[in-house]
Amino acid sequence: MNNKTLDTSRPQNFFGTSEARLKEIFSNWKVETYRVHQVFTWVYHYRCTNFSEMTNLSKSLRSRLAENFYFSLPKIQHRTHSKDGSTKYSFELDDGVIVESVWMPSDSRNTLCLSTQAGCRLNCSFCLTASLGLQRNLTTSEIIGQYLAVNGEQENQITNIVFMGMGEPLDNYGPVVDALHLMTSPEAMKVSTRKITVSTAGLVDKMKTFQKENLAINLAVSLNASDNATRDQLMPINKKYPIEVLIDCLKKYPLKPRRRHTIEYVLLADVNDSDEDARRLAKWLRDVPCKINLIPFNSFDSSEYRPPAEERILQFQNFLIEQNFSTFVRRNRAADILGACGQLAAQSAVNTPGSSGASFENP
Ligand code: SF4
Repeated sequence: MNNKTLDTSRPQNFFGTSEARLKEIFSNWKVETYRVHQVFTWVYHYRCTNFSEMTNLSKSLRSRLAENFYFSLPKIQHRTHSKDGSTKYSFELDDGVIVESVWMPSDSRNTLCLSTQAGCRLNCSFCLTASLGLQRNLTTSEIIGQYLAVNGEQENQITNIVFMGMGEPLDNYGPVVDALHLMTSPEAMKVSTRKITVSTAGLVDKMKTFQKENLAINLAVSLNASDNATRDQLMPINKKYPIEVLIDCLKKYPLKPRRRHTIEYVLLADVNDSDEDARRLAKWLRDVPCKINLIPFNSFDSSEYRPPAEERILQFQNFLIEQNFSTFVRRNRAADILGACGQLAAQSAVNTPGSSGASFENP
């Protein structure tokens, strides 16, 4: 949890305010901490964003809250609808920065893929978001706000959340962790930890800190190569945290019973899709509790990469299944609207052909 010093100099967005932070503020105000629960119930259960209507609070507390907090969600600038039922949302933030989220409904679940950074600095060579560089980190309220804005206008509620949009979540550590606490808190948004997945390119130091957060959130690790030379090319972060270091971290990562990690592997023709790659991948993952998602690459104009042929994809998958790995081929949702894995790039804002992240449905 991020402990920030109390800043009473200007009003804050309530949606970025964690339970711990509000308790700290109420304590400074000499207000009973159980009042935090009452306020959260009004906001997150009754969707009340007018303090004056919170009638079980004293009038003085209501006006003090109104003086110190406001409610603001990111503005939906544009919706792009896919043939497969997905919708890509472009959000305009207060400073004009654009970020994107993807809503992916299906028969069994409604998944929201949300962004944690505007752009990304990890520079993965297959990712369109990387072309933006890092514009800035999102605040907790901007992360939560994507969820609240989409949930507020969809008839069917969001059931699953994946942190796989623009940005590397663990590179914006504090705001992401605060957002996760708000999402999973029984006092606030009450989303099950089982229904949330955070994707990472493998920031091992942050993964070690993250496992101590008492969050039990699912982790999806983008591996994408079976040897360090290839991974260095695809994901420069590998030079800092090579495969053996990442795998060692995953082997030691504490998991709740019946949970396992997700290994993401973007399949690139003639780069990482050979039989030898499949063999090496199986060897690396032998003692890692995991399932494997194979993601055929989504081509975009400026990319040098191509997806493998269908037969190659199935051979790769079958080899891993024969090695007793639960292995799935994930067909990207929203690919026709540049909303799929590695294609979020806030193109309307930067006038580039689409970007990052990953927005497939079943991490
Ligand atoms: S794949 Fe993820 S970590 Fe890599 S550049 Fe794209 S957004 Fe960043």
